[in-house]
Amino acid sequence: MWSAWRGITETIPSLTIRLDPSRLSALSRFPRTASGTRAYSSFFQDLEAQLEAMRRKAAKAMPGSDWTPVELTPGLPPEHADIVIVGGGVVGWSVAYWLKKKERIRGGVRVLVVEKDPTYSQASTVLSAGGIRQQFSLPENVHLSLASADFMRNINEHLGVLNEDPVDLQFNHSGYLFLASEKGAGVMEENYKIQRDAGAKVTLLSQTKVKEKFPWLNTDGVALASYGLENEGWFDPWSLLNAFRRKALSMGVYQCFGEVTGFRYSSHSMPINDGDRRAFSRIRFVNVRMPNSLEYQPVECGIVVNTAGASSGKVAELAGIGLGPKDTLAAVPVPVEPRKRYVYVINCPDGPGLDTPFMIDYSGVYCRREGLGGNYIAGLSPEEEEEPDTRDLEVDYNFFQDRVWPLLAHRIPAFECAKVTSAWAGYYDYNTFDQNGILGLHPLVNNMYFATGFSGHGLQQSPAVGRALAELILDGSFRTLDLSALGFMRLYHQQPVLEKNIV
Ligand SMILES: Cc1cc2nc3c(=O)[nH]c(=O)nc-3n(C[C@H](O)[C@H](O)[C@H](O)COP(=O)(O)OP(=O)(O)OC[C@H]3O[C@@H](n4cnc5c(N)ncnc54)[C@H](O)[C@@H]3O)c2cc1C
Repeated sequence: MWSAWRGITETIPSLTIRLDPSRLSALSRFPRTASGTRAYSSFFQDLEAQLEAMRRKAAKAMPGSDWTPVELTPGLPPEHADIVIVGGGVVGWSVAYWLKKKERIRGGVRVLVVEKDPTYSQASTVLSAGGIRQQFSLPENVHLSLASADFMRNINEHLGVLNEDPVDLQFNHSGYLFLASEKGAGVMEENYKIQRDAGAKVTLLSQTKVKEKFPWLNTDGVALASYGLENEGWFDPWSLLNAFRRKALSMGVYQCFGEVTGFRYSSHSMPINDGDRRAFSRIRFVNVRMPNSLEYQPVECGIVVNTAGASSGKVAELAGIGLGPKDTLAAVPVPVEPRKRYVYVINCPDGPGLDTPFMIDYSGVYCRREGLGGNYIAGLSPEEEEEPDTRDLEVDYNFFQDRVWPLLAHRIPAFECAKVTSAWAGYYDYNTFDQNGILGLHPLVNNMYFATGFSGHGLQQSPAVGRALAELILDGSFRTLDLSALGFMRLYHQQPVLEKNIV
């Protein structure tokens, strides 16, 4: 707790602490030692002893709580946790943070985040384009992004940690500019209405207005545009991930680097309708394989949260999900798989300037500014039949040459002389069913929750998604936003909740 004090540093035997200046007047009452420092050590030891006694009392009163920190073997996860979160990307850490934030008794819920890749080399979060927008067609998505924008605006109130540097998301405020052709104008108007009704500040622009506002844009074929006036832009995904992680760790969340390779669960069947029985299962242990080892450590748990991003379909399969008899609920898989997406960094000294929006053309091509040195990032989602191989994250430069550049240079003629300076590829956590998040409890594995399948908009929604999931787990229902439409049962009932504005 001493590290929580910001300010002047004073040295005491065997301990360097930072003191809040407001505490100095009280501390100045301590006598000076021969060496000139004040004799605080006995004061602190005494306080530490009192705290220890308090922790022991609390632990006794609440068996199983983590008031007493768990003794961990370095590198290994604890032997048991109330909630194990599989996948430490931005969504996993957001859920962890909100669980701790919402727990009623401090230390009442032991949360463990298991992440297989400490370098995050393939995590969608860190390979994303970092955008946030309110321009969706589904009210749930608009609300999620609005709530997340609000969270980001007050990021240090939520994720600031005393005595640590403030969080800086490097947020660039800039509207998204969606362009619609004659054919898409009607849908754009419908979407605009949904967005406005949900509280988003968006405006529609005629072709003439678009040209007036962005004279560097070729508006041929553009019938209508929608432009975000507030709460849109882009930010640094790493900073958000790290801010969630740092805060969650400071609140007592445990992390472990290892791969979840299986679950041990118990099954039972229960009557559901007249005479019908349904098999339910409950995960008892999560098997965590340690890095560079064939051994795994079982972690006994009460609840599992699947936030494994593009791998969440596979992780669900480890719990038997999707492997049941044909045409039953147990046969419905979690339809999330990796889809490779390229992001090209281009340089064009004569390209558009500070007012460049996050432009989404109706052809699917997008671009935004990257800093102020004439750099931009651009990309395009491939057609279904040209989906690239997902075994690696190699970049296909021909895809830029053949597919992205012609569309981009048509829309922004200055890009005729743009040059690709670098590129990367990342995996979308792609929901093949309806390209939307899958949120909530599995109906048969009745202690596995999901937050996955966001297909290109999971980063920006992570703050509100984490809160929603923590509500479901700790309160038993959504409290702030009703996201029940995004539950698993829509997959079984074949009722897609389609998002029309997938980029
Ligand atoms: C090119 C690109 C551009 C994007 N642009 C945007 C954008 O502009 N705005 C936006 O909002 N979103 C964007 N996205 C989508 C966004 O990045 C994702 O929706 C979001 O990051 C998902 O977060 P996550 O935590 O679920 O997944 P991840 O960040 O992938 O985290 C999942 C973690 O789970 C770990 N894991 C997997 N399996 C296991 C296991 N068995 N055991 C332990 N750990 C495991 C993985 O190592 C990984 O670190 C983009 C994505 C890409 C690829």
